[in-house]
Amino acid sequence: MQEDEIIKNLNKCSRCALCIQNCPIFQIKKDENNTARGLICKLLGYEKKILSEKEIKKNLKICLNCSKCKENCPSKVNTTLIFAYKNAKFNPSKISQRLFLAAKLLPLKILYILNVFKKEKKKNIKSNVLYFKGCVAKAQHKTTFLDKIFKSEQFLCCGLPYLASGDIKNYEKAKKKNIELIKKASKVVFDCASCKKAVSEYEELNEKEKNKLEFLTDFLLEKKLKLKENSKYKNKTVIFHKPCHMDKNDFKKIETFLSNIEGIKYLKSKDENLCCGFGGSYFIYHPIIATKIAYKKALLIKKEKANLILTACPACTIGLRYGQIISFNFKKTLELRDFIESELTI
Ligand code: SF4
Ligand code: SF4
Repeated sequence: MQEDEIIKNLNKCSRCALCIQNCPIFQIKKDENNTARGLICKLLGYEKKILSEKEIKKNLKICLNCSKCKENCPSKVNTTLIFAYKNAKFNPSKISQRLFLAAKLLPLKILYILNVFKKEKKKNIKSNVLYFKGCVAKAQHKTTFLDKIFKSEQFLCCGLPYLASGDIKNYEKAKKKNIELIKKASKVVFDCASCKKAVSEYEELNEKEKNKLEFLTDFLLEKKLKLKENSKYKNKTVIFHKPCHMDKNDFKKIETFLSNIEGIKYLKSKDENLCCGFGGSYFIYHPIIATKIAYKKALLIKKEKANLILTACPACTIGLRYGQIISFNFKKTLELRDFIESELTI
């Protein structure tokens, strides 16, 4: 994001405060310096040379980059991208994020390498719809049912982990390669809300190209999927955790999709806006704040008395599982894609 674009966005803020209520960090810290409005005022103060870098750095670092402020902003300030770029400037990653991520994802990398040696039937898929398989999904599954329906091209990481940790160089590299593939595709299907969000924020994509990006439920809504006869979730209550990065329309479609599945009872969550607290690597840098948010979410889930928690982002899955452990609830948590694959007749 260019500096003039950042300034233009900062000046769009009307100080209405609609971004504050749902900010998960404000809910924990009760300090307006850590909200979008507070950060915008501070960044403008820095531009006018009233505030120093030191007075902003800490607040920027604590932002979860969850996008809730952006979602609620009537002036359409691109808060998340501004905060990520400014954070990268003031708090650049000290070690290579590639190495850091490689170490963090080592168990998954091992699974990924093992997957390479697994035999796979040759596919003959003619459509030009591409499946954006995220890094975690690639490691967990050699093939998912989406690999069998759509072409799986080698997209790189969506870039969000790099951007959030101040590694703009690797973010730009991943973005460039992914854009090349998107331009050639007729559509791109995602099963992770955070990957979709990160890709839809690539500034180089025009509206027509952004309209190619779809969530998997867009395809599934056309089909009438049933619970398998032997499913252990027959007549069970299911809730869906909306990842912070999930588009509202995608969420509505998921709710319709889940409500239409015969054999399960879909329960609408009482507070769909509550964050899981994990935020990718946020947990590693800010474990206390992350734990407080995860616990709050877990208590709400406990009250809802569901048998199964579904979501659509691997980081949320980890955050929700962690919340279950610290609240002694131990409810099964699955990604929507895996639930569809193992429990529904596709
Ligand atoms: S909602 Fe948007 S316009 Fe209102 S204070 Fe927050 S960032 Fe500024
Ligand atoms: S991105 Fe999330 S944590 Fe950061 S200011 Fe906006 S609402 Fe708060």
